[in-house]
Amino acid sequence: MTKPPTTVTDYEVLVVGAGFSGLHLLHRLRGAGHLVHVVEQAPEVGGTWYWNRYPGARCDVESVDYSYSWDEDLQQEWDWTEKYPAQGDILAYLKHVADRFDLRKDIDFNTTLTGAEWDESQGLWTATADDGRIYRARYLLMAVGCLSVPKDIDLPGFDKFAGPVLRTYDWPEGEDLKGRTVGVIGTGSTGAQVIPALSETVGDLTVIQRTPNFVIPTRNRPLHDGELEEIKADYADRRVRNRSHPAGVFRSDNEKNAFDVDAQERYATFQERWEGGGINFLGSFADLMFDQAANDAVAEFVHAKIDEIVDDPATAASLKPRSYPLGAKRPVIATDYYETYNKDNVHLVDVKRNPLDTFTEKGFRLADGTEYAIDTMVLATGFDAFTGPFTKMDIRGTDGRSLAQVWNREGARTQLGFGAAGFPNMIIVAGVGSPSVLANMVTAIEQHVEWISRLLDTMREEGYTKIEAQESAQEAWAQTVEDVAAMTLWPNGDSGSWYRGANVEGKVQLFMPYAAGIVEYGNAIDKSAENDYEGFVLS
Ligand code: NAP
Repeated sequence: MTKPPTTVTDYEVLVVGAGFSGLHLLHRLRGAGHLVHVVEQAPEVGGTWYWNRYPGARCDVESVDYSYSWDEDLQQEWDWTEKYPAQGDILAYLKHVADRFDLRKDIDFNTTLTGAEWDESQGLWTATADDGRIYRARYLLMAVGCLSVPKDIDLPGFDKFAGPVLRTYDWPEGEDLKGRTVGVIGTGSTGAQVIPALSETVGDLTVIQRTPNFVIPTRNRPLHDGELEEIKADYADRRVRNRSHPAGVFRSDNEKNAFDVDAQERYATFQERWEGGGINFLGSFADLMFDQAANDAVAEFVHAKIDEIVDDPATAASLKPRSYPLGAKRPVIATDYYETYNKDNVHLVDVKRNPLDTFTEKGFRLADGTEYAIDTMVLATGFDAFTGPFTKMDIRGTDGRSLAQVWNREGARTQLGFGAAGFPNMIIVAGVGSPSVLANMVTAIEQHVEWISRLLDTMREEGYTKIEAQESAQEAWAQTVEDVAAMTLWPNGDSGSWYRGANVEGKVQLFMPYAAGIVEYGNAIDKSAENDYEGFVLS
């Protein structure tokens, strides 16, 4: 393909990404009179929800909460049909938002930025797309998602495998692998959705599991007659309630600790929440993420459920997580996950017990010599979380400093999640050091977009053109993020969680999301803004 001639386009604000964050930024900043433009690597809006089209893909935050709150007409006119939204429903919603607010005209699709360089003398970012187009902008807003770059393949001998390989991350639309002999690697949130869905269509399914997860039933269902109308009548208050909960979505959390009650009440509480399904299960007791004994109690409950559901005792034993607290790895919410292992066409291979020796041309072999024949492999192996989208680009800040080098060498640190020292005017949405993935992402994103738009308005009004995170403030915030995580059980055990970058070989391990939640975080970022953006230098 011949490259188009190099064109240079100037904007005040260049937003990278047209998912929930980028669309909201575009609408809000454009409405406030900023000259803003978006680049998006996909041919369509949606971000995460554009790419992850694998069978069974669904969000585990309720539909009515996993949506924008900033336009009353929008939230009144959009009709969700199920309690939890399927990928296609969320994508349809975001396409509707793009059309309704005429956002597409300011988005360049099929545009992947390969690098961006800060020009100190002009106070501008120059970003280069893979087709040679150049964008110049005063502000570079990174709305690139927390889980948008799949981690590199790190499977022994995988290049020997000659059959088709599908990644859940960019699944071909409509592919159901009907009748095929399929292997799936990965039993995280993605694996736990794609495995039950594929078990319905494929001929034979072998699941390769390394670390088992605690899987809570979703209990998705159609919204009842009149339910949506009732929610819509209360929408404004519902959004306020969501903002008042650390998780960015209101949960009726039990205020009691697990051992404030007797064994019978403890069991009844877990059972009631298990039957209710979803993330509410984590609100069973107040101390589940703080007290090991409380966590052991909930783990024991889930272990008993696995024994109850799974027919084969050896499979049940392999499915039980034992080496880390429930919640230390992102809890998995899925439908019929454990039940799927009772199907004749589904087999679990526990590679902690019998390690994976190598992939072969026609499948894989375990350490004890057992060979498995597979015709199609599915990778649900996770993401280079938070930092992947940044380190894969060549981002150069002051004096040519490389963000990839700094973050790969020292780990990713930011001031309040928004900016990194040495990278002026690069502003991050829902990045390292913000609650993001530990909250309802949409609420967390709205909190960020509001703060960023207030910042840009203030800078324009007061004649500032440059903002940069202070190194000392960034260090202090990174320490706060670690300290808050250390108060919980999140960092405990050998979960290998992407929360700390432990899933990617060689990645510097730091706890990346801010675990105190959106309320505490909102206080911290508002305090900074009210004190002339304390922790940043404006000039
Ligand atoms: P993940 O949680 O990182 O899971 C990746 C899986 O692949 C793990 O089971 C991991 O095993 C396995 N794996 C990776 N490399 C491996 C190797 N070399 N050998 C054997 N196994 C290997 O990734 P994910 O499932 O894509 O989920 C990422 C996040 O996306 C979730 O935590 C969640 O925040 C979000 N998500 C949400 C939903 C939802 O809303 N329901 C759905 C999908 C994703 P180990 O644990 O042993 O490393």
